[in-house]
Amino acid sequence: MGLLEGKRLLVTGVLVDTSIAFHVARLAQQEGARVVLTAPGRQTRLTSAVSRRLPQEAPVVPLDVTSDEDLAALAERTREHVDGLDGVVHSIGFAPQSVMGGHFLDAAWDDVATAVHVSAYSLKALAVAAQPLLATPASVVGLTFDARYAWPVYDWMGVAKAAFESTARYLARDLGPEGVRVNLVSAGPIRTTAATHIPGFDQMEGGWSARAPLGWDSSDPEPTARAVCALLSDWFPATTGEVVHVDGGVHAMGQ
Ligand code: NAD
Repeated sequence: MGLLEGKRLLVTGVLVDTSIAFHVARLAQQEGARVVLTAPGRQTRLTSAVSRRLPQEAPVVPLDVTSDEDLAALAERTREHVDGLDGVVHSIGFAPQSVMGGHFLDAAWDDVATAVHVSAYSLKALAVAAQPLLATPASVVGLTFDARYAWPVYDWMGVAKAAFESTARYLARDLGPEGVRVNLVSAGPIRTTAATHIPGFDQMEGGWSARAPLGWDSSDPEPTARAVCALLSDWFPATTGEVVHVDGGVHAMGQ
């Protein structure tokens, strides 16, 4: 029996086949899950095309996490494909280039606000929008980049990730009584579209492998996707508000 046998999962963030979420969806299906994808309206065609590369083609529901209309329609649109949800994956991040790449002191609030809206507040927005479909128990899993530190070039996206990590803890508090767990995977750098959109991403990635006791391959999203699947499974039944590091061990080293 697969790790996720019979689980009904909503997976956001499949843009292309390098997306972390693509590998989450692929592994989840291999482990027995039924997967529904979401994509912002302008990207649904691209996501539908990528979905054909999964073991089973998955339906795509339109969802821009900043659209109140999309959020209000999410449960109904998802219900066309599954009768409930055992898990939701938040794999969404965006910040205007002006707030990353060494512009911390110059960034304008409107651009910072976009980063926080799309990358942090959206975890609450997504969880609440999916709530009418959530089973008991259910698992919400998101992706972060360790927000305890000031990284080179990450700038306001790092601040947005700190807000995201805090949002996960408050959601864990408020949804726990409904049987909903909320956990994050803190991944090391992986060469995806979002990552290469960060001006100077090389500076974040540089030396990671040398610092990681286990080594690190930034072209391999599979270890991260596996951890997400594990958190979606029944094997973390008493874990919530947690951040699991999948970074080769860098977070635990002194330098
Ligand atoms: P990606 O570019 O493949 O995925 C980012 C996704 O965000 C895309 O699918 C995009 O459609 C979605 N998105 C952006 N704006 C949206 C909106 N308004 N509404 C709905 N969806 C929206 O890149 P990825 O690296 O797979 O990113 C997934 C998650 O992993 C992000 O939260 C990212 O911060 C996190 N993460 C990435 C790395 C890395 O090095 N790649 C490391 C740690 C954490």
